[in-house]
Amino acid sequence: MHYPKVFQSLIAHFSALPSVGPKMAERIVLYLFKQDEEKLQGFAESLEALHHLKSCTRCFHIAEGELCMICADTKRIQDTLCLVEEPLDVIAIERTGTYLGLYHVLGGLLESGKNDNSSNLRISELLHRVENDFIKEVILATNPTTEGDMTALYIKKKLEPYHIKVTRIARGMATGGDIEYADEMTLTASLTNRKELI
Ligand SMILES: [Zn+2]
Repeated sequence: MHYPKVFQSLIAHFSALPSVGPKMAERIVLYLFKQDEEKLQGFAESLEALHHLKSCTRCFHIAEGELCMICADTKRIQDTLCLVEEPLDVIAIERTGTYLGLYHVLGGLLESGKNDNSSNLRISELLHRVENDFIKEVILATNPTTEGDMTALYIKKKLEPYHIKVTRIARGMATGGDIEYADEMTLTASLTNRKELI
């Protein structure tokens, strides 16, 4: 590779991104090289601004300040929580425009096998919200995969002492499917047809 150092470094950064191979990274860098200064400046500033994003202190979704835009919106239904694995799931559900409650981002799923990683997930934070925020329903919207189902069941047990409604999204999506990639109609149906776990 006979690229200048800056190129090599950028290619390394881009090829480390999900689904971007070295060839694609090379093409991206060459493409960027042809852009005018203003465009590149905007790109650089957006990257820099990523730095300043935080996790919402209430639901752990991506936030620009203390609270994310959803938690800060007082028109949202305050007593319903939709539990998801990661911020991308919040974005996918928000895209449907049909869910009006709040979220709780778990930050992962339980791993099958011996390792107990439950303490890495935001479960105690969830229980704290359920106890203090007058939550009436928690919708378990982890992906319908083995780990997603296992996590949903685990959380369901943890929520039992609180005597609230606990529902699981319907299997509109194929088992093993991913909320993040589900189309809006499927996701809406899956939320609307959620079933109470008893
Ligand atoms: Zn939030």
